[in-house]
Amino acid sequence: MNADSILEETLIKRSQQKKRTSPLNYKERLFVLTKSRLTYYEGRPEKKHKKGSIDLQKIKCAEIVKHDSGPIPCQNKYPFQIIYDCNTLYVFAPNADSRSTWVKKLKEEIRNNDLILPKYHPKFWAEGVWQCCRQADKLAPGCEEYNLLGDLTRKPLPPTPDDVLHSNLPGSVYKSPSPLPRDEDEDEEEEENEIVIAMYDFEALETHDLSLVKGEEYALLQKCDVHWWKAKDKTGCEGYIPSNYVTEKKSNNLEKFEWYCRNVNRSKAEHLLKSEDKEGGFVVRDSSQPGMYTVSLYTKFGGEGSGSTRHYHIKLTQKSHRQYYLAEKHLFDNIPELIEYHQHNAAGLVTRLRYPVGRKGRSAPTTAGFSYEKWEINPSELTFMKELGSGQFGVVRLGKWRAQHKVAIKAIREGAMYEEDFIEEAKIMMKLSHPKLVQLYGVCTQQKPIYIVTEFMELGCLLNYLRQRRGQLNNEMLLSMCQDVCDGMSYLESNGFIHRDLAARNCLVSESHVVKVSDFGMTRYVLDDQYTSSSGAKFPVKWSPPEVLHYSKFSSKSDVWSFGVLIWEVYNEGKMPFETKTNAEVVDFISSGCRLYRPKQASKAVYEIMNHCWHEKAEGRPCFSHLLLMINQIMESDC
Ligand code: ADP
Repeated sequence: MNADSILEETLIKRSQQKKRTSPLNYKERLFVLTKSRLTYYEGRPEKKHKKGSIDLQKIKCAEIVKHDSGPIPCQNKYPFQIIYDCNTLYVFAPNADSRSTWVKKLKEEIRNNDLILPKYHPKFWAEGVWQCCRQADKLAPGCEEYNLLGDLTRKPLPPTPDDVLHSNLPGSVYKSPSPLPRDEDEDEEEEENEIVIAMYDFEALETHDLSLVKGEEYALLQKCDVHWWKAKDKTGCEGYIPSNYVTEKKSNNLEKFEWYCRNVNRSKAEHLLKSEDKEGGFVVRDSSQPGMYTVSLYTKFGGEGSGSTRHYHIKLTQKSHRQYYLAEKHLFDNIPELIEYHQHNAAGLVTRLRYPVGRKGRSAPTTAGFSYEKWEINPSELTFMKELGSGQFGVVRLGKWRAQHKVAIKAIREGAMYEEDFIEEAKIMMKLSHPKLVQLYGVCTQQKPIYIVTEFMELGCLLNYLRQRRGQLNNEMLLSMCQDVCDGMSYLESNGFIHRDLAARNCLVSESHVVKVSDFGMTRYVLDDQYTSSSGAKFPVKWSPPEVLHYSKFSSKSDVWSFGVLIWEVYNEGKMPFETKTNAEVVDFISSGCRLYRPKQASKAVYEIMNHCWHEKAEGRPCFSHLLLMINQIMESDC
């Protein structure tokens, strides 16, 4: 740490979009606070490159951002804001403590500044309005009183006579903003429009969308939402595109290569390569060790009569100039060069990398809804096909939207749901989009019964899937199912969304055997006491931790408990947990500290994970992101 610095930490900075057309993006920056400046750098502390700096005397407000709607589009979920000149800088801290420290220190350093705002905007400037007051002028004076002396860890302090004076006399301190001379040094980088490459074809479904052609380049105009970005094609046409269909053109980005598969673990890679059954078929995937990669390579002649897959870690040399290699004699500056070499030379591998499997032939991922800001679906555009099942809310059928896209349509039975509350929440749920969550595409609310339209999952619910395949599932497949669920849950957790009814019956399985989490948060809209009250006959007692059973205290940590029971269900191939016990007996059993037994197929390491999930106290349980690391480790070592 620099001798003058008061604080130093890598945080995420949101671009300020000073130019109307510049894209909204989120970048990792090393922030350094000194007595005179707040400076941010690209890179690591040893090798950093200055990107911008703000004179502390120009800061008029530093405060947390009150965020309560929609997911935050970067991994740091604790936003705060720094207002200086006519700009608002949004910074995202990794946790509440870090954010509180930054805001407190900044407040301490600016407390004697001449210009402190009497009022500020507590929520984001996003999509052309202040989210707190819906004012559409970016320079509109704030809508809430600013308390410079307020300590975040305590309740706001009562206003000082000075504050009262400020708030009564708007304008006495806050002058209507006029363009200030730009200080070169304190300007942030304003990048040119970012260029992205389409990884999949996308057909524009509404007039405000833009079609994508795989392999083509597009200029990003605005990242208006996490899942939908505004872009321009080479002919100048503009429109919204799904953000998960494109990837940055930057040279060190692997996603643009056909052979790279981001969300594929060891077991899925084997499945993928086996189904292609091509000599030299290969994928490059993320290794369980963060930041590292593995090449999975298939040979038809490796096993006894059938093909087999080998996994090679891409290693790095220890020298100061770090290079990548698979075979020690052949070193490369980057992974694409390494792959290119081994596409022509086996050089120690079981065969050369002949055939990139990657995305080829795999279906495009789901999009967060069918189009930007579209949640209402016109029911006349739906066709109904076979019945898939029925549940708490009503019958679920397979259907098609616009005669083309397969969907699942749930018709909500009269009196089964708090419909209005759900419809309001659906707009937020549509923004939850992840490869391990069953995607909500939209709702039909202008009729009775209302419909909920979601991604169709060919292989149905996980519980039946397990029961139908008893005796045929190996350890690797079982762990891979738990890994999928944990991945989806980790996304929900990072977005502050609680499932409340996680169990094998509420997960579904896709055509390619990927398990996805479904029905998240839906119990809040069930109109049936037997289901919602913890003493009700339909309450998921066997999946609930003590704090839910006794105080109805739901949290991501109560989901973690349920996840432990789900692992147990998976390793018992769909057996009912606490099979011989009634709900009341289960409550006593759990309260006295007893737990489910170790399933025969579960290794010690897997049972240990279950027991971590079943820690009596919520605080003692690991979070999903930690559980995912543990599962990944077992996956790489055991399987
Ligand atoms: P509810 O939420 O009303 O309790 P469920 O979501 O449990 O209903 O759905 C009931 C059954 O319908 C499931 O067990 C499953 O077999 C089938 N089903 C539900 N959603 C889908 C889907 N998206 N794809 C395929 N089958 C589904």
